[in-house]
Amino acid sequence: MGERQKLFRKGIAEIKAYVPGKPIEDVMREFGLTEVVKLASNENPLGPSPKALEAMRGALDSLNIYPDGACLALTKKLADKLDVDPDGIVFGNGEDNIITLISKTFLNEGEEMIMADPSFSSFEISARAMGAKVIMVPVRPDFTTDLDAILEAVNDKTKLIYLCNPNNPTGTICTRDEVEKFLDKLPDHVVLVFDEAYKEFVDDPSYPEGLDYVRAGHNVLVSRTFSKVYGLAGIRVGYAIGHPELIGGMKRIREAFATNRLAQIGAIAALDDDEFLKKVTDVIREGREYLYQEFERMGLPYVKSHTNFMMVDTKKDIKQVFVDLQREGVIVRPAHIWNLPTWARVTVGTMEENRKFIEALEKVLA
Ligand SMILES: *Cc1c(COP(=O)(O)O)cnc(C)c1O
Repeated sequence: MGERQKLFRKGIAEIKAYVPGKPIEDVMREFGLTEVVKLASNENPLGPSPKALEAMRGALDSLNIYPDGACLALTKKLADKLDVDPDGIVFGNGEDNIITLISKTFLNEGEEMIMADPSFSSFEISARAMGAKVIMVPVRPDFTTDLDAILEAVNDKTKLIYLCNPNNPTGTICTRDEVEKFLDKLPDHVVLVFDEAYKEFVDDPSYPEGLDYVRAGHNVLVSRTFSKVYGLAGIRVGYAIGHPELIGGMKRIREAFATNRLAQIGAIAALDDDEFLKKVTDVIREGREYLYQEFERMGLPYVKSHTNFMMVDTKKDIKQVFVDLQREGVIVRPAHIWNLPTWARVTVGTMEENRKFIEALEKVLA
């Protein structure tokens, strides 16, 4: 450990940093390629919402003006669309920033946060940064989140539970029945966060909306993003919804201008872009079915997904497969970081990208 790390707050030096998907430019340079498909970060294969783009183009000339810190117009638009109390909404610089804000608002040093393993690593990083103890509850053998085991891990010190639904990286969901039984037994001193970054991709009628439990008065927060289905990962806009008193705590410490001017304008327009939303979910649905079919043909185990990505078992050392796939111009997310040394998480792309991936995978595994 370097001498200067002693200057960090307690616990910071032990945190493992977030591992982002490998950038296209790096792979182009390393392998001398001109065409690379990135299926590693669950980005939208159709680009950004066209309505959002158009609105943002029109706003470029006002970039000398600070954004509206309270996001009034965007908040009103979302509150009307979802029929929720505008005082129960807070926007951030992407959902990742909202997750940090939740951990900062609710976690005292020594308190416990519970999450599934594997799940989204920002939950862990932000909780550890606050000096909280992180309890990781392994997913079941079928990769679904084990709510019974999470409930068993709850004690007097538990403050926060992050439930990623659908879960990243497994692509699985918790059903309404499971969630309601769970909530019935959850003590009042626990705040339950539903991360719904991928909710628009779910078709399953047994999928529960976290908002129903906010409306029912539970200590529940729902966090969402414009990065995935609206294709706006580059402008960073996400939000949380909950009881105004819970959200009020978050608003006290949020950065004054966390959601930038273009992001607010783009997000308002995106909320009207139902046509794009349908187009995206149709492409993803078709892509998922295609990939299932191809994995079956190749005899590769996979996990049925409710999202725009899925887990597949290549049955070979994924670190090697990861490099070999790059040579073929395809970037996936190797799952050894989640202790799954032969698995990959692959984002569903356009049909052309999906075919390129399958072709490359067949070649690499041959
Ligand atoms: C992508 C993702 C987010 C974060 O999205 P932002 O780009 O920060 O808005 C949050 N949670 C999960 C599970 C994600 O996969």
